[in-house]
Amino acid sequence: MARYTGPVCRLCRREDMKLFLKGERCYTDKCGYERRSYPPGQHGQARRRKRSDYGEQLREKQKAKRIYGIAERQFRGYYHKATRMKGVAGENLIQLLERRLDNVVYRMGFASDHAEARQLVRHGHFTVKGKRVDIPSYLVRPGDVVEVVSGSRTITRIIEALTGVDRRGVPQWISLDKDAWKGSIKQMPAREDVTLPIREQLIIELYSK
Ligand code: SF4
Repeated sequence: MARYTGPVCRLCRREDMKLFLKGERCYTDKCGYERRSYPPGQHGQARRRKRSDYGEQLREKQKAKRIYGIAERQFRGYYHKATRMKGVAGENLIQLLERRLDNVVYRMGFASDHAEARQLVRHGHFTVKGKRVDIPSYLVRPGDVVEVVSGSRTITRIIEALTGVDRRGVPQWISLDKDAWKGSIKQMPAREDVTLPIREQLIIELYSK
């Protein structure tokens, strides 16, 4: 499946929650979901029918894919990897998604949303353990240091994103040194460190059918 390039606020309305896909705009009264908190489309304002179990599972999977900006094929790959790991498959899935370099760049505050983080990574603006990495799906490990390359520290998008990090906060499995333009991975993210309202068990049930 190709990457979605349509209006992103529509995705929040479809999932009936704010997915924070548009950076700073999401925190203002211009937020599309705040303005129209009903599903998109001709029948969006009609009374909602109760969803089937399959419908619940599907929506949960779509929500996670949209938050992290991942296409179906790659997302399914994470499911297979999560089921082969030790521990609870759902928690492994969330951990894998969180460990992606583009997500880490976003969590550290070097980008204001996932799409921007992915683009900045692709353009080679970050190093991991001193080496330039331009693969958004690169999985970080405890001890890794992610740093903005010195030539990219004047990029307006990165500077502006960093001003918003205090409001968003940095998860406790990551440490950020804003003045040094870098952050490090303290430990693997645990499920309780990830506050996203995703019911990962439903995603596992969906794929395991
Ligand atoms: Fe979603 Fe952000 Fe658009 Fe609001 S502004 S609807 S949170 S993407």
